[in-house]
Amino acid sequence: MNPRLLQIGPLSEGLQARLAQWPVTSLWREPADHLSRYGGDYDVVVTSARHGLSEAQLAQLPRVRAICSFGVGSDAICVAAAQARGIRVSVTPDVLNDCVADLALGLILATARQLPASDRFVREGRWAAGAYPLTRRVSGKRLGIVGLGRIGEQIALRATGFAMPMRYHSRRPHPQHGDSHEPDLLALARWADFLVLACPGGAATHHLIDAAVLDALGPQGVLINIARGSVVDEAALVAALREGRLGGAGLDVFEHEPQVPSELFELPNVVLLPHVGSGTVETRQAMEQLLLDNLAAFLRDGEVLTPP
Ligand code: NAP
Repeated sequence: MNPRLLQIGPLSEGLQARLAQWPVTSLWREPADHLSRYGGDYDVVVTSARHGLSEAQLAQLPRVRAICSFGVGSDAICVAAAQARGIRVSVTPDVLNDCVADLALGLILATARQLPASDRFVREGRWAAGAYPLTRRVSGKRLGIVGLGRIGEQIALRATGFAMPMRYHSRRPHPQHGDSHEPDLLALARWADFLVLACPGGAATHHLIDAAVLDALGPQGVLINIARGSVVDEAALVAALREGRLGGAGLDVFEHEPQVPSELFELPNVVLLPHVGSGTVETRQAMEQLLLDNLAAFLRDGEVLTPP
């Protein structure tokens, strides 16, 4: 089989060069009517968690048999519609767990200890006029995790080094974590000093973190989001931070990326990152290799290695 590949959006130059061993079309460079005219030519879709694949796009791809995606989140990919057609879908899980978990711990420290604001304080020459205000301790504080999956597990593991008691919320208890499951999200938020989001995005978790959860976390509580912006009601988050009802927020993801609410820019207890959880050279290379391994496995055996 010499498959024809349809690539939905740009990927790294290195990955695009390796995909070029097959005939590959860059959809974003084609006219808007490309799918309706030529959609029947393609066997495999290559996409990413960011570029996704909509049900409307898939409906115009009658020959497609596999969708290989870069990234672990599949909320932007019409997985159910694809699987209903027997189409194989792959993502790139596990290889990014360490880096995303590292970043979550980085955000906890950066937010509680106000590292970016302290750095600005030094650079702007304000230190000579007086000491930086006191911040908040991390070690020994209570860690709540929403979604104790592959990444959440690694966050919990790292937090043991900070002697942080951990409880988590998910749809079902994970027996290996004893009695630390909390079925009531509000109760977890009331208990936690830091509430870290590591669950999937999509309809099932849309605005899971609303004004009530933020109020339960409270004026000393800190929200960390390395999951998806859609999990948080961003307007409620901005209001809680501005009104001092929430202690701080460390955010790698946003509801309308790359747009970030400008009200957050001046708050010293807020740390804002441009969705870089997996963004290290080593991890991105591993994700690229896993995408290619999935593609090769599908072309060889008709099955992918790492479905969502
Ligand atoms: P995973 O292994 O599937 O873990 C997700 C966990 O969330 C599961 O343990 C699941 O437990 C729980 N969960 C699912 N639905 C839930 C709900 N409605 N309420 C509460 N908990 C729920 O996924 P992962 O590999 O750890 O990745 C998690 C997410 O991180 C991805 O989906 C992606 O959106 C995000 N991510 C972000 C970055 C970044 O750059 N910032 C990078 C990679 C991934 P139950 O089944 O028991 O509910």
